[in-house]
Amino acid sequence: MSIESTINDLTNSLPDGVDLIAISKTHPKEAIEEAYSVGQRLFGENRPQELKRKWEELPKDIKWHMIGHLQTNKVRMIASFVDFIHSVDSQRVIELINSEAARVDRVINILFEVKIAQEESKHGWDIDELTQFVEKEDWSRFKNVSIRGLMGVASYTEDQMQIKNEFSELNKLFLHYKDTFGSNFDTLSMGMTSDYELAIECGSNMVRVGSLIFGNRDYNITK
Ligand SMILES: *Cc1c(COP(=O)(O)O)cnc(C)c1O
Repeated sequence: MSIESTINDLTNSLPDGVDLIAISKTHPKEAIEEAYSVGQRLFGENRPQELKRKWEELPKDIKWHMIGHLQTNKVRMIASFVDFIHSVDSQRVIELINSEAARVDRVINILFEVKIAQEESKHGWDIDELTQFVEKEDWSRFKNVSIRGLMGVASYTEDQMQIKNEFSELNKLFLHYKDTFGSNFDTLSMGMTSDYELAIECGSNMVRVGSLIFGNRDYNITK
């Protein structure tokens, strides 16, 4: 199936209120232009350099989502244009996003990345550590970040029950933190090509879909 028809099918089949982030990492700008031509405006990337290059080359009404682990020394590279950062996994990174956004007079939307998967390799907060941080922090001092919600990646497994449990746990946490952050806290980013339908059943309202739209990734051709 072409990129255009996959975007159209997805857009028509996702429930109202669920945003589709087209994850374009490793794919060339021509692929993004195809998706753009049928109305897709939300794109996600996981490497700051690649994100910046694509932002420079592509139409400025695209909203760019950073979904990959962000080293502190790379925040400045994307602060002037990034719309959402899904991968906020430490206090240091939030402080830095806030100060870099202030420097360029912007407010950047952020999601806390929570570790819900079993795998050791996954990034993100442990739930208990995040809860402690959320409860002790004075959030009014962060003027240049808007704390919009949570992001999670489920375990890489065939076990649908396990994936469902992980997504449900994240949804529960999301509803719990809403009391702290209020109505601005409205985004639950979970679900990718293999599990986005299950994620939506479990409360997701932002899905990050890559290979279903753009095909398999070849990491050898990009730096
Ligand atoms: C690459 C990536 C995706 C997209 O994965 P697909 O399986 O290709 O849909 C979603 N979320 C994150 C965090 C990713 O790194």
